[in-house]
Amino acid sequence: MSEKRDYYEILDVSRDASEKDLKKSFRSLARKYHPDKNDSPDADEKFKEIQEAYAVLSDPEKRRNYDRFGHNSPGGSPFGPGGFQGFDINLEDILGGDFFSSFFGGGRRRSAQNQGNDILVRHEIPLKSILIGGKVEIDIDLPISCDDCNGTGAKDGVTSSCSDCNGSGQVRVRQQIGPFVQDSLRSCQTCQGSGRTYAVKCKTCSGSGSITGAQTIRFEIPKGAQTGTRLRMRNKGQPAPFGRGVSGDLFIELIIEEHSWFERNGMDLIMSLPLGYSDLALGTTITLPHIDDKDLTIKIPPRTNSGDTITIQSRGVPSSRGVGRGDVVILCKLHMPKKFNKATKKSLESLRNELSGEGETLDRIIDDAEDRRR
Ligand SMILES: [Zn+2]
Ligand SMILES: [Zn+2]
Repeated sequence: MSEKRDYYEILDVSRDASEKDLKKSFRSLARKYHPDKNDSPDADEKFKEIQEAYAVLSDPEKRRNYDRFGHNSPGGSPFGPGGFQGFDINLEDILGGDFFSSFFGGGRRRSAQNQGNDILVRHEIPLKSILIGGKVEIDIDLPISCDDCNGTGAKDGVTSSCSDCNGSGQVRVRQQIGPFVQDSLRSCQTCQGSGRTYAVKCKTCSGSGSITGAQTIRFEIPKGAQTGTRLRMRNKGQPAPFGRGVSGDLFIELIIEEHSWFERNGMDLIMSLPLGYSDLALGTTITLPHIDDKDLTIKIPPRTNSGDTITIQSRGVPSSRGVGRGDVVILCKLHMPKKFNKATKKSLESLRNELSGEGETLDRIIDDAEDRRR
């Protein structure tokens, strides 16, 4: 058997460490090596070692003995002939409730029983509304606390203290984790953590404590919002179970409707503009209605290529930080008519050579490739 390590060394404290120092060090080491939190194979052993060291040093008499005799106390092991078997202290008190709540179903265990669930509602808005912001009013069905029973679910709101948990809503559960006994608190199953029970259900809400009713929700669309932006409305969610505690939150998730021609790229709005050959060749000006209610004037310069882009600055989506606006980026494309009439065909035929560009085809291919690489 390997040499037993020094208790002070295990807890990483000096020999004159105060009770407070001991507790502090134990706490952080126990958190680190608790077998539920630490997967390493020696975590169990380390955790046991830490507990044993703390069990001895936190007891003034055992500590005095240890200081004098070390591990070879004349009375044998301070834990009796079988040595250290485990710890019968309330780890929750020492480590704090939050430490354990993270084991048992989420960090909100304590408040979860006092708060209703959150509700998520998706709401579609037109692209325009993220440019100008604005107020929205919607009617949606939401659960609200039942008035007839004050949200308790009991007929006329008459409840009595739960006898299984004495009204606390929690029961103490003793658990064996490896060689250790650990006390922890669990939500009482009889009253689902409410601490209250009742004999007769409320008819209005069938005992659930909440009913669904239409509610008007008002909110403001933040400028520059995007699909997935969530607005939180505190305490507009599911009412607390049994009418004890606060309602959860309501989240409105914004979905931006698809625009007929714009696509959004961050703060920029992108569109493609199909134009006839003459418009691209000779240049033109196009005016379009824009979502900021001011017309968008697009100047196409002469000899614009299909694939060229035109950027109109500061007509895109406003920044969600409140300063500046993105651009409108227009991709010019050659629009080819489905068919030509005879006269047009004839004119085009006569222009064929004129319009085919300078040089040989192969030269144009090479020039274009060079342009792309630049
Ligand atoms: Zn109970
Ligand atoms: Zn009710």
